[in-house]
Amino acid sequence: MIMVDCSSGTTQGKPKFVPFNEGLMESTMQIFKTSFAFRNREFPVVNGKALQFIYGSKQFKTKGGLAAGTATTNVYRNSQFKKTMKAMQTPCCSPDEVIFGPDFNQSLYCHLLCGLILRNEVQVVSSTFAHSIVHAFRKFEQVWQELVANIRDGVLSSRVTVPSIRSAMSKLLKPDPELADTIYNKCIRLSNWYGLIPELFPNTRYIYGIMTGSMEPYLKKLRHYAGQLPLLSADYGSSEGWIGANVNPELPPELVTYAVLPNIGYFEFIPLVENVDGVEATPVGLTEVKLGEEYEIVVTNFAGLYRYRLGDVVKIKGFHNGTPELQFICRRNLLLSINIDKNTEKDLQLAVEAAAQLLLNEKLEVVDFSSNVNTSADPGHYVIFWELNGEASKEILKECCNCIDKSFVDAGYVSSRKVKTIGPLELRIVKRGTFHKILDHFVGLGAAVSQFKTPRCVGTTNLSVLQILTSNVVESYFSTAFS
Ligand code: AMP
Repeated sequence: MIMVDCSSGTTQGKPKFVPFNEGLMESTMQIFKTSFAFRNREFPVVNGKALQFIYGSKQFKTKGGLAAGTATTNVYRNSQFKKTMKAMQTPCCSPDEVIFGPDFNQSLYCHLLCGLILRNEVQVVSSTFAHSIVHAFRKFEQVWQELVANIRDGVLSSRVTVPSIRSAMSKLLKPDPELADTIYNKCIRLSNWYGLIPELFPNTRYIYGIMTGSMEPYLKKLRHYAGQLPLLSADYGSSEGWIGANVNPELPPELVTYAVLPNIGYFEFIPLVENVDGVEATPVGLTEVKLGEEYEIVVTNFAGLYRYRLGDVVKIKGFHNGTPELQFICRRNLLLSINIDKNTEKDLQLAVEAAAQLLLNEKLEVVDFSSNVNTSADPGHYVIFWELNGEASKEILKECCNCIDKSFVDAGYVSSRKVKTIGPLELRIVKRGTFHKILDHFVGLGAAVSQFKTPRCVGTTNLSVLQILTSNVVESYFSTAFS
């Protein structure tokens, strides 16, 4: 059976169609089981449940008659997925009607409710990408009293309108004032929601989801919710196929590497050396990669992709037996660049993190961020979009703006800023909820919430997202760092 997978499309603005078949399904289960075996040695789970913030998106038929859906949906719908979760002793708390519901806000609400009803059985809290876990607990902060009321009365809120979800939930929900009191008392005692997850789900062993790459900015908030619980990064893969398993689960997400599973595809690596005359270096095989070097991955897989460039940059950090262990570095094409400057997604993340430190005293945080290169005037300049969780003073934001500008340490950027061939960096603050609108926009296009990654640099291929960002700007600041 051949199907079509839709990638998240959050980088380029529209999803790509890539082939998917049973071979890829098998390798997906193989990688899940492999990393589970390593994880379970360190953090055993027994006869538990997983509170999984996973969401199916719609499936449809292509013009040629093939079934198409997002990669995660194709996986969650496959009967092997359930079997594997059972074998891992952590079946999902929520019924299928919730996972595959047509409205992800309603599904999210019910995931939280299912988790609370089964709170003592939950041993793992997970999602595909860490963003969904943070998103879920931010939501919890807003709706917790409603959830408690539903548990007390045994009646589901009217916010859930999908009949199939209502009927599935009615089978789980019974009036339980004792449980409602317990959750209520725990929530009111928490300070700024620190340690929320272990309070709500006392038998949780770890939090699990992809936490590297564009997920790193969410780690701080995730750690806050997780308290002392370990954060374990899930594996490395894409709609085009899986690549590597996390075989060192005890490492914090910032240090995680992924051991390539050599039999789930044919992998080649393009060395990232300065290319002369625009000629790219020749790809090397799995056994020829060198420790400490960076490469772009090329995939040939069982579903028919041939020498497909994934666009991800990885670094060789070591070897597990003979197979390389990769550190995810960044997407190759995600560069902020105007002339000779080159800044990656990682550089942007570091600059934002440095400036976000200045907000700590005011107890404020950056909820999410993105960027854009603005060349509408000469010279061009970088624009950084920030959504904050409260109001910051103008002085602090001005300082943040200067700090971001100074934190791009790439020599090309610094020298261009000095000679004014790049203009002052601009920090634009957007209304609260703007990044949620971006998520809604992608979901409206048929993307899966489970695969959502905030686009960190919005170019001309992503005009509708740029439009959402620019139309929600409430104030903006220009850097004075190089004046
Ligand atoms: P998609 O197929 O659209 O859901 O996205 C796949 C992309 O997500 C990959 O090409 C990577 O850029 C990113 N990704 C997947 N797994 C990881 C990981 N473990 N760490 C960092 N980035 C990842």
